[in-house]
Amino acid sequence: MPYLVLKDINKIYPNGFHAVHDFNLEIEKGEFIVFVGSSGCGKSTTLRMIAGLEDISKGDFLIDGQRANEKGPRDRGVAMVFQSYALYPQMTVYDNLAFGLTLEGIDEDIIEEKVKNVAKILGLTDYLDRLPKALSGGQRQRVAVGRAIIRKVGIFLMDEPLSNLDAKQRVTMRSEITEIHRKTGATTIYVTHDQTEAMTMADRIVVMKEGYIQQVGTPYELYFNPVNVFVAGFIGEPPMNFVRSTLKNGKIMVGKNEIDLTKKMKAADIKKYEGKELVFGFRPEAISLGAGDGYVIKAEVELTELLGDNTNVYVDIQGDKSILKVNPHDTPEMDSEIVFTIPLESVYIFDNETEKVIK
Ligand code: ADP
Repeated sequence: MPYLVLKDINKIYPNGFHAVHDFNLEIEKGEFIVFVGSSGCGKSTTLRMIAGLEDISKGDFLIDGQRANEKGPRDRGVAMVFQSYALYPQMTVYDNLAFGLTLEGIDEDIIEEKVKNVAKILGLTDYLDRLPKALSGGQRQRVAVGRAIIRKVGIFLMDEPLSNLDAKQRVTMRSEITEIHRKTGATTIYVTHDQTEAMTMADRIVVMKEGYIQQVGTPYELYFNPVNVFVAGFIGEPPMNFVRSTLKNGKIMVGKNEIDLTKKMKAADIKKYEGKELVFGFRPEAISLGAGDGYVIKAEVELTELLGDNTNVYVDIQGDKSILKVNPHDTPEMDSEIVFTIPLESVYIFDNETEKVIK
């Protein structure tokens, strides 16, 4: 039995705004789940319904097989880390960490042991006497995480916990949170708009858009088998290239390059989509320079950006713009004509009307 079940969950705010539609998800004990999507897509609302901070308008939420819709936050066994760390400014790190346990009336000795243990895991041992204002952003964030993990809870909820940190601290905290999850094994739901955080931390990712789940899957599944244009364009940096073109006699045009889709699509689909607009997608990193095995495309180089580990090449495929990622040693000249190859298995075809992938 899954540990958490969200069944047809909906949120309609008092002002009538329908923020979350028919959200269905089952979460196994110990999983690290990431909700990802642009701002306003309903991630926090869903997380807050799980935490018990927002009513569930419609649907069922089960913890360990028991309906939990009506349970208060304290009875759900959840701990939450917010974007604003919400530390008590007048309390030392020690007291911030101990606060929840003190409220629960736990023995001082046991509290001390737990605080020291958590401080050790989080590298805060030398800062226990400090006030939050005397800590860096990353250290404050660690205290906030520590305050959540110090209590024995089954569910750990995090709402954009790294967004107040600089890029370097985010990378460090990302691996620290993954490490803490590995050590504690707590079921974790993590909200972010950052696809890199989602890809690097999640066991499974839930991609949301405008209140609807788009796809649920492992990072690998989302990257290699996106179900629609939105997910394909959301995961990956630079994003997948898309070229829209009408299917005529089994062929589409990518710029002035004729692409024979009978090599890629099922015969039944070729028939079904004849005369319809399709979306031809390929990832910047999936190509190789030169003519090889696959779809060979001619393009003009508009701009190159050497990033060190690779070069981003902005090309014009006779009207359609795309980005290619190439080895920096193979960086082509600006304004030159190049030829590149996309292997057939790296091409994605979508229905332009429904935006769904055509397998
Ligand atoms: P996310 O976390 O993905 O950025 P939210 O869950 O915070 O998105 O918000 C989802 C949508 O619900 C947004 O359009 C937001 O404006 C709206 N919303 C959030 N809180 C309320 C509220 N209390 N009343 C009405 N609408 C709200």
